[in-house]
Amino acid sequence: MTGAADTIVGDRAAAPSLPSPASGGGKGGGMRALTLVSDRKIELLDVAAPPAPSAGEVQLRIKAIGLNHIDVWGWRGMAFAKRKLPLIVGVEAAGEIVAVGAPPYPPPQAGEDKAGVKVGDRVVAYGALTCGHCKACREGRDNLCENVAGIMGFHVDGFARDLINMPARLVVPIPQNVSFRDAACAPVAFGTVQHMLFDNAKLEPGETILVQAGGSGIGTTAIKMAKAIGCTVITTVGDDAKAAKAKALGADHVINYRTERFETLVRKLTGKKGVDVAFEHVGPDTFNGSLLCLKRGGRLVTCGSTSGQSITMNLFQLYLQQYRITGSFGCSLRNIRDSLAKMASGLLPVIDTEVALADFEQGLARLESRQVFGKIIVNF
Ligand SMILES: [Zn+2]
Repeated sequence: MTGAADTIVGDRAAAPSLPSPASGGGKGGGMRALTLVSDRKIELLDVAAPPAPSAGEVQLRIKAIGLNHIDVWGWRGMAFAKRKLPLIVGVEAAGEIVAVGAPPYPPPQAGEDKAGVKVGDRVVAYGALTCGHCKACREGRDNLCENVAGIMGFHVDGFARDLINMPARLVVPIPQNVSFRDAACAPVAFGTVQHMLFDNAKLEPGETILVQAGGSGIGTTAIKMAKAIGCTVITTVGDDAKAAKAKALGADHVINYRTERFETLVRKLTGKKGVDVAFEHVGPDTFNGSLLCLKRGGRLVTCGSTSGQSITMNLFQLYLQQYRITGSFGCSLRNIRDSLAKMASGLLPVIDTEVALADFEQGLARLESRQVFGKIIVNF
């Protein structure tokens, strides 16, 4: 479709350089799109670039994508997910506005100078196509939108392509001192943790929190966010190398769950009282243990179940101990703004690896193997 005349230059010179398919990213009419064609099979295709953005839309040139477990679920194939293949992958992204449709644009937020709707603005994109007008959307509870059209890169085409048109109301400006790479961790990883800790678990300074799987993308983020407000952090990891890294992030106590029973140690570390909050995303392997670690009236918040889907629960324990259990999925636009503000003030994501677009599947395999400490970023 194109003569490969253009070269995509990302903002990270350090990304591994791999042969690029014959496409320049829009100028010749085509662009690269990383497409799931069947379960566990992703191909880098040359597809038509999007048309000029419509009214209320912006066109983004994608610069970096963050990988998350939801990418792994989509790649493996999920029986319950309503979707049609082929599907462009990529759920969490940062990019630059290269074209702007006609108004209306969303009103700028406090502290923003009409940012996010000019050519050249650096932005991150919300990862789900919300309606913008239902009660939940109007109240800023975007992740409870009643008419959501799907999660990008999971139900509907996602961000792993050179160019995409997005509703302007679904992009959030990146502060000047935050890189595309770091900002690409805001819409899912940082936003999810911000929502879990502060909207759902109502974590307060001085409290004690148990962070399960502290080496994961959201685990490392939870450790940093909780320490930043002066909490005591106990975290679990799967090996000693990760234990040292979690300590270096500021975790007060690190437990290798393969060699020690974390339930017993948490009781000991808290003087038998238990923690105020448990941050869960592992699932059956740890869920009941996390409940046992809570103090009376403690809060458990969960956003995942990587080790399976179902558990049995002791209901006597649930109500006698007055636990509060909250499911959490995604975040609001406000959570993304707050996350980017945290990055601007120095609370940066932990990056495990950066890979090139063509190595997306290798990144997923690394994430699936859980041999990660922090986030995997795909550069364009
Ligand atoms: Zn809505």
